[in-house]
Amino acid sequence: MTDNLRRDFSVLLSLTGKEDVFDVLDELGVLPAEHLSGVQRLPGNRYDVTFKTADIRRRFWPIFNSAKKLTASWYAGSTSLVTVLHVPLELDDNIVKFVLGRYGQVVSSRLLCYEKFPCVSNGIRQYKVNLKKDIPSSLFLGGRQCLVRYYGQPRTCLKCGLDGHEAKTCDNRRCFKCFNLGHTSKDCKATVVCTTCNKEGHNFRECTVSFANKARLSSEWTEGGAALRPTREDPEGQDANVAEEKGEVSAGMSVDLSEEKVATCESQLEL
Ligand SMILES: [Zn+2]
Ligand SMILES: [Zn+2]
Ligand SMILES: [Zn+2]
Repeated sequence: MTDNLRRDFSVLLSLTGKEDVFDVLDELGVLPAEHLSGVQRLPGNRYDVTFKTADIRRRFWPIFNSAKKLTASWYAGSTSLVTVLHVPLELDDNIVKFVLGRYGQVVSSRLLCYEKFPCVSNGIRQYKVNLKKDIPSSLFLGGRQCLVRYYGQPRTCLKCGLDGHEAKTCDNRRCFKCFNLGHTSKDCKATVVCTTCNKEGHNFRECTVSFANKARLSSEWTEGGAALRPTREDPEGQDANVAEEKGEVSAGMSVDLSEEKVATCESQLEL
């Protein structure tokens, strides 16, 4: 079924001029032998450009997106399995879904448990997300810095949130109150920014975002994203319940963080 075909490695390019596609790619820094596994011509001066890995595609995406000689789109509908670690167990799962919702559409969620003690959770939460943009390697949830992992994720520095280096070599200071660079929260004069709704003036504990129901934490996949409580401006509430599940993900209790795949993918990459 075409619905289940993953197109994580490909982008669709529409060229605006008559230039050769490889000349255009060359100008954007794409090295065919190094980065590409295919360039397929389609009707209407369009091309399917398939990269060797999803990670390479992600790295080139911002460049393609701002290029003048083409319009790029990527294939939607490929669901990523997003693993979130270290979220306080008491935190309503709606909040995690709501925050993840900034990066794509959350399709379903589950909470992992110990194999030995199936009713005891290890706190690892997983979400199927139709990503629209990349999620940073860490997010603040429930007052704690939580790690976010998915296959093909570009790793960002856990200290400052920028990409291209790791926390152990990072000299940047990131304020965890206003989330700006250059000072720490001790020296911060700015107003606080809420890690749940992203608005200024209150912290996550005082956040007024409220949800239609408390999200049930279950080791089974539970359909749906965070449904906001209806407000006067939005009487129907946010339609966040969605889409049939796509792709087969084992519902077993073993944890597949896809760490290995990501590591292999990144170590092969010399961009
Ligand atoms: Zn850094
Ligand atoms: Zn600050
Ligand atoms: Zn808030």
